Amino acid sequence: MKITDVEVICLRVPSLDAPCEWGDDAFLVKVYTDTGLVGIGESDTSPMVAKAMIEAPESNLYCGGLKRIIMGENPLEIQKIWDKMYWQSNYNGRRGLGIHAMSAIDIALWDIASQYYQVPIYMLLGGKYREKLRAYGTFVPADTPEESALIARKLKAEGFTSLKFGGGVLGDDPDLDCAIVKAVREELGADFELQIDLATKWRTYGHAAGMMKRLEPYHLNWIEEPVLSDDMDGYARLSGVSGTKISGGESLTTRYEFQDFLNRAKVDIIQPDITRCGGISEMRKIYDMATMQGTKLVPHGFSTGILLAATVQFLAATEQCDLMEYSQSTSPLFTDLVKNRLPFENGYVTVPDCIGLGVELDEEIVAKYRIW
Ligand SMILES: [Mg+2]
Repeated sequence: MKITDVEVICLRVPSLDAPCEWGDDAFLVKVYTDTGLVGIGESDTSPMVAKAMIEAPESNLYCGGLKRIIMGENPLEIQKIWDKMYWQSNYNGRRGLGIHAMSAIDIALWDIASQYYQVPIYMLLGGKYREKLRAYGTFVPADTPEESALIARKLKAEGFTSLKFGGGVLGDDPDLDCAIVKAVREELGADFELQIDLATKWRTYGHAAGMMKRLEPYHLNWIEEPVLSDDMDGYARLSGVSGTKISGGESLTTRYEFQDFLNRAKVDIIQPDITRCGGISEMRKIYDMATMQGTKLVPHGFSTGILLAATVQFLAATEQCDLMEYSQSTSPLFTDLVKNRLPFENGYVTVPDCIGLGVELDEEIVAKYRIW
């Protein structure tokens, strides 16, 4: 079997120049083979830049577009292809967006392998540890505490036993941060699992430490990305500030960055995104490293049903990862792009015994939002 083509699909809602919140664009790849098998992958990244990363011609031996590097390769040689892409793009790739684009291709290769061998991806990864995964809901808070509490109430009624909020106004104003957390905590009750995501907006150790102290009465389960992931010493110092766990790492790529983050930032929870960190292949390595250090892995996941499917296959095949993120995005790219998107039901997502990722794209949605 040989790879014969790599198609890049860039989607955007509603138009290129309009403001883009979370989940309003998507980057998909289709990897074609000479047997007719086609793999689908995605990356939660900047679509147009990732497109260039895949389609660029060679500039020199270590500065190439990924498509050219993998054309003609046997798609079943997933690790060999990963290593080849990494090596031959190590000037323009190696971290960040280069790895995002590689992640999409890697996921597509696992999709192909599962179809070829006719066993689920979790089986190729070593077997299924669980039939269903507990899922926490992520929502963007409203501008007021009262409206934010109403969102939380609605989600709790839908069956969520764990919720997180972040983005929007959270992190902009200390008093408002506290008021929103208080209102949501009071709405959900003292025992409900609740976490917040600062998306690095607290910026400095000093401010973050002060906020953690102020929020202690609301016993949050974790505080996510209080500061930039580069500030590993800041993370390490924050770990001791209160009893609340610290999490981070959604922006990091490869086992190398996670090795640093695990060793220096000393967070309680790492949150690699399977569509950014290097795909299913690299996620496995990051998981092994985290497990060896007693650090929990709860993946980041806030994009389309393709990310969702890949994440669930990976998680099903781990002994220790028992919690996943379930986006509450209302973007059609989350709700409608994958016709058979894995549903959230009664607090859980059931692991499907499908062949491949099992995603069926709605081609009308693709055509409607495709910009490239
Ligand atoms: Mg986050």
